[in-house]
Amino acid sequence: MTRARRLAITLRDLRDAADSLPDAVVLLDEAWRVRWFNQAAETLLGLRRGHDRGVVLSDRLHGSELAAWLRSGARVPLHDIPAPGRPGDHLDVSLQPFGRRQRMLLARDISPLTRLEQIRRDFVANVSHELRTPLTVIHGYLELLDPEDVPTLAPVLAEMRAQSKRMGQIVEDLLTLSRLETQEHVIDERVPMAAMLATMRKEAEALSQGRHRIALETETDCDLLGSPRDLHSALSNLVSNAVRYTPSGGSIVIRWRRMPEGAVYSVSDTGYGIPAGHLSRLTERFYRVSSSRSRETGGTGLGLSIVKHVLNLHQARLSVESTPGKGSTFACHFGAERLLPPESGATDPTPG
Ligand code: ADP
Repeated sequence: MTRARRLAITLRDLRDAADSLPDAVVLLDEAWRVRWFNQAAETLLGLRRGHDRGVVLSDRLHGSELAAWLRSGARVPLHDIPAPGRPGDHLDVSLQPFGRRQRMLLARDISPLTRLEQIRRDFVANVSHELRTPLTVIHGYLELLDPEDVPTLAPVLAEMRAQSKRMGQIVEDLLTLSRLETQEHVIDERVPMAAMLATMRKEAEALSQGRHRIALETETDCDLLGSPRDLHSALSNLVSNAVRYTPSGGSIVIRWRRMPEGAVYSVSDTGYGIPAGHLSRLTERFYRVSSSRSRETGGTGLGLSIVKHVLNLHQARLSVESTPGKGSTFACHFGAERLLPPESGATDPTPG
């Protein structure tokens, strides 16, 4: 066999191997023009053999999310974008530099995963919804029963009421999470922070019943832009956790501060604290450092998941600092684009 023939066979084998890949591969030259692509690139990206060689890829995919990403330099990988060649399907895309200023675009079809994720979401939402009515009925009847009618059953009745209330709270939290997960963005409204912070302090005091010292430190009069209902739920979850995981006699400080890159709402406590190994998992559903402590204090294990989802919808992030035995600080970092100057005529924030 001649050398040329051997080379031709190797080339054909390489091309066949690339064509059998389930992922789309597109080789781009230094001017982002298409040099070569495999079969999956035809189905997933809609490229056509004998047509699209030499064209600038972002021009070819004009109007798609992928084209905008390419035009902006394609620096970070893209997650879950619509496949330009197959409507309804979803892709993860990344760009790999190689050789002399050339690039390889890789696109993976993640539609089966997104479909499974959708099934999971629907299932949780449906189960929660189905449980809501029977629970309301049970709860209603339990409220009607008078413990004084059968004093021996009074402790049993109290426990049944507490547990049905707890189940009801879990169902409500799961429904909130389902709603937050399917939402892509929030409807932006002004969230007056002076009033919100005053509510936070009141909620902390009501929950603490005088067992803790509670302070509010307001260092900025900025308001937030976002969903008042969702932000209330996130900010108050942190307050409720601080009270629930701090023994009597401890103190809790709620702060609202301006930072160079935005503003921070934080809640610090002098409570039990959290060992470092747990910190990265706290926002997972039902993740608890101590199940018994969480249950005793009426926790559902879903609070911090809700906080994380609400913050994501506001392009904000949660940070946690904690020392076991000393206490914790949970902080929500909001970007400058989420801040509003106070409305003229608004009163100064009350000092802490
Ligand atoms: P829960 O309903 O169990 O409180 P969360 O999602 O709100 O659920 O919190 C998850 C876990 O994180 C809690 O079970 C608890 O172990 C830990 N945690 C949250 N906040 C604090 C805090 N301020 N101090 C100590 N541990 C905390």
